[in-house]
Amino acid sequence: MTESLLSAVFLAAVLATTGFKLWLAHRHGRHILAHRGQVPRAFAEQIPLSAHQKAADYTRARLRLGAVDLVVNAAWILALTLGGGLQWLYGLWTGLADAGSIMQGTAFLATLTLLGAVIELPATLYRTFVIEARFGFNKMTPALFVSDTLKSLALSALIGLPVIAAVLWLMSAMGTHWWWAVWLFWLVFNLLVLLIWPTFIAPLFNRFTPLEDERVRGRVDALLARCGFRSNGLFVMDGSRRSAHGNAYFTGFGKSKRIVFFDTLLNTLEPLEVEAVLAHELGHFKRRHVTKRLVLMATVMLALLWLLSALMHAPWFFAGLGVEAQSTAMALALFMIALPVFSFPFSPLMSAWSRKHEFEADRYASEQSDAGALISALVKLYRDNASTLTPDPLYSRIYDSHPPATIRIAHLQGKPL
Ligand SMILES: [Zn+2]
Repeated sequence: MTESLLSAVFLAAVLATTGFKLWLAHRHGRHILAHRGQVPRAFAEQIPLSAHQKAADYTRARLRLGAVDLVVNAAWILALTLGGGLQWLYGLWTGLADAGSIMQGTAFLATLTLLGAVIELPATLYRTFVIEARFGFNKMTPALFVSDTLKSLALSALIGLPVIAAVLWLMSAMGTHWWWAVWLFWLVFNLLVLLIWPTFIAPLFNRFTPLEDERVRGRVDALLARCGFRSNGLFVMDGSRRSAHGNAYFTGFGKSKRIVFFDTLLNTLEPLEVEAVLAHELGHFKRRHVTKRLVLMATVMLALLWLLSALMHAPWFFAGLGVEAQSTAMALALFMIALPVFSFPFSPLMSAWSRKHEFEADRYASEQSDAGALISALVKLYRDNASTLTPDPLYSRIYDSHPPATIRIAHLQGKPL
């Protein structure tokens, strides 16, 4: 590999993935527009035409913003690498700390992350205060947005800075074997975050109260007993403080695992529907989807770190991506920027795997609870979240972590399409 070849391959990959994603978004939008005039037959009785059209307009508004985002992101990646941005930023810190030191590396990576967040800010603001607001979903006040941003920033600094410093230290102190040392560190760190997230971090942003509704509790306790599932409790989260979108999820692991329902969801679902949604979530747990995902992530991470340890000593890796400085911090920065560009071809596989898990969890829910109740809960969720019922098939195949509505409902009815 030579540096000019890497530059050419990288440039081509950025342009090709961006172009392909734009084309997919365009297809998706056109498909939705073509089906805007009629609610799909399977939903005709539960979803009014006005809600279907709102979903179409909402999805298309988000797609348009997404397209702008794609172009901005491609420009940002190219400006940083081939445009010399990384080298400039690195030089900025060289005057203030010893070149190649952990201090300089940490400062460099932290400012790079911060700049990335600043670049994303306009799109986030537009999404929250224009699009979400226009479709009646936004409940976030500007004051809450500012306080959320400041809290995340403080939290990232508190956790992120020591982590970056520790990784850079391991990379220089462990010699050629650093990749598995960093991997072990990464693994322990991730498990620790999973463990403390529900009890220490999530409450910084939301209020969690034990589920009190007697009718729901009774059903849920019976379901948990039936499935042999023990958890650290059932909580209601005040999701309505920020958004009208509803959801339910599992968090933590081992003894710290808990089940969380958004208040927005509990307000619209009947007790039996809540039970069915919970049974679906339990299905993910019982079929070991969480563990499988963790194992895959850990394996991929190990391979990637090994790859980085090999690339780190190749001068063409740095020069080909537009930088002169060859340091551990720079290698990490380049790797994090280049990786998403080259890993995009794998996203359809990941999406397909995730959709397979959704079918499995749905099947578990039909066995342990009630398929009809899950269907009616899903229809309410599609309607209230303005999710499109008519995605472009190719777009859906590549991106969707959940099966398209029509196919998912047909599976639940026991007549797969
Ligand atoms: Zn699921």
